Amino acid sequence: MRIRVGHLYPDYLNIYADRGNIAVLSRRAALRGHELVVDPIGVGGALEPDAHDLLYVGGGQDREQAAIAPDLAARGDAIREAVAGGAALLAVCGGYQLLGRGYRGRDGSFMPGAGLFAHETVAGETRMIGDVLLECELDPGERRLLAGFENHAGRTLLDSGAEPLGRVVHGFGNDGESGFEGCRVDSALGTYLHGPLLPRNPWLADWLLERALAHATGEASERLAALPDELEEEAFRVAAGRARVRGGRR
Ligand code: GLN
Repeated sequence: MRIRVGHLYPDYLNIYADRGNIAVLSRRAALRGHELVVDPIGVGGALEPDAHDLLYVGGGQDREQAAIAPDLAARGDAIREAVAGGAALLAVCGGYQLLGRGYRGRDGSFMPGAGLFAHETVAGETRMIGDVLLECELDPGERRLLAGFENHAGRTLLDSGAEPLGRVVHGFGNDGESGFEGCRVDSALGTYLHGPLLPRNPWLADWLLERALAHATGEASERLAALPDELEEEAFRVAAGRARVRGGRR
């Protein structure tokens, strides 16, 4: 199968191993006989709701976010329609913030978001930085750990009833207080975790690929064949170990 990926704003939102995350998706797809075709979408570029099986929005600082925020907000309908139609999506850090209702910066300015995730973000006085360990249950009864690195000033507050990506085991997460990290709507995931996310959490890469493949084929999602992931598992162990040394939630 060809898996069509729409990579939004690769020239602006690209500071958190975002190209590496796409490379992982591409390699893991190829090892199962599928081809990932990546379509870079810049400001003003076309985004048709049914044109992609997976959308990717990376991370950036406030300045880069401000440069693309109006364009991203204007694509809210297309992005929500794509996700409602079963497309997978991964948004990291700055992209995650701008897929909510919006982000209020330290200077009081408000960047409107695309309105996919039921959350709002407000910049705080301090940055929340360090290794993170989450517990996720994306499929009922299947608990998985996710390791990453966070670095954000924004505090993201989920609306009540919004589904987080995971529960914080170690680290700050969305806001340092709720114990939640990230957000999920159907097959769309947003997270603060980067540094780099998919190389050390291959199960998450496969979860996204399985949903992207289901969208591409129009059939129910199926489990991909396992790969020998010794190096990836070692990378996970190192990152999770650092998060454990970091200790408690706050
Ligand atoms: N606006 C974001 C923040 O919260 C951008 C993310 C980042 O730069 N790490 O800091």
